[in-house]
Amino acid sequence: MSSYPSKNPAATDDDQEKINARMGRIKHKVFVLSGKGGVGKSTIAVNMAVSLAEAGKKVGLLDIDIHGPSVPTMLGLYQMPLIQNENSIEPVYAGDLKVMSIGFVLQNEDDALIWRGPMKMGVIKQFLGDVEWGELDYLIVDCPPGTGDEPLSICQLIENPDGAVIVTTPQRVAAVDVRKSLTFCKKLEVPVLGILENMSGFSCPQCGETTEIFRTGSGRKMAADFDVPFLGALPIDPTIVAACDGGVPFVQQYENTETAQLMKTLLTPILALSE
Ligand code: ADP
Repeated sequence: MSSYPSKNPAATDDDQEKINARMGRIKHKVFVLSGKGGVGKSTIAVNMAVSLAEAGKKVGLLDIDIHGPSVPTMLGLYQMPLIQNENSIEPVYAGDLKVMSIGFVLQNEDDALIWRGPMKMGVIKQFLGDVEWGELDYLIVDCPPGTGDEPLSICQLIENPDGAVIVTTPQRVAAVDVRKSLTFCKKLEVPVLGILENMSGFSCPQCGETTEIFRTGSGRKMAADFDVPFLGALPIDPTIVAACDGGVPFVQQYENTETAQLMKTLLTPILALSE
């Protein structure tokens, strides 16, 4: 039996009704989760959303990573003023992609540190219930790392999500924490769409030799242990950092590279949700 309440205690029936009305117009809701920060969760969320949009889907990307909302930087959306209507908030556009991020509401990057629980909860509820997401094929949610209050809130507030993509890196210190995310999903009855092992080996562009910097294989093992799909492994690639820092999605800027093609194939099961 689940040890978490399925309903969020801080959401009133009115809040939940409003959220359900908005979320009801979105066909597929996918969380990107990880037990650990810095494993590439936002990178995967951004490139997943962009790849789905490129495949002709109507997509929204919601970044509630309070500890490091990096989606605006990764999409080159700097200092975007939020447009507030009487009863709603306009999403920010990156091409056809509708984006909302905690980063848009922070006055400066240090603000997140002093946000208290109710403030975080308030903004998450607003992002779900007040943003004009409209009719979408997908909403990709970049969650904060760990299994704390914010990932818990989002999993409780979005009813009947399609599931979660879990991002890990191969070293044991990451894997131990990421396993907690799998247990978290199980307890909350959120289906795991698959585990993606990021930063899995480095292929030297000079000599072509592959070095297993953080080892490899723990993602596949974890998937087998928890009986969930293994989506595949993505190598360490310096062009990913360049694209993220430069504000252009990697799958667009480096679309013809092996890594970008690989990134797209790893997302095939997510695309298959809408078939
Ligand atoms: P998280 O959301 O898990 O905190 P990010 O997506 O912000 O992690 O990624 C952390 C850093 O790692 C970023 O600078 C990003 O560009 C870089 N990164 C992510 N995946 C890769 C990869 N496969 N190869 C090289 N750098 C990567």
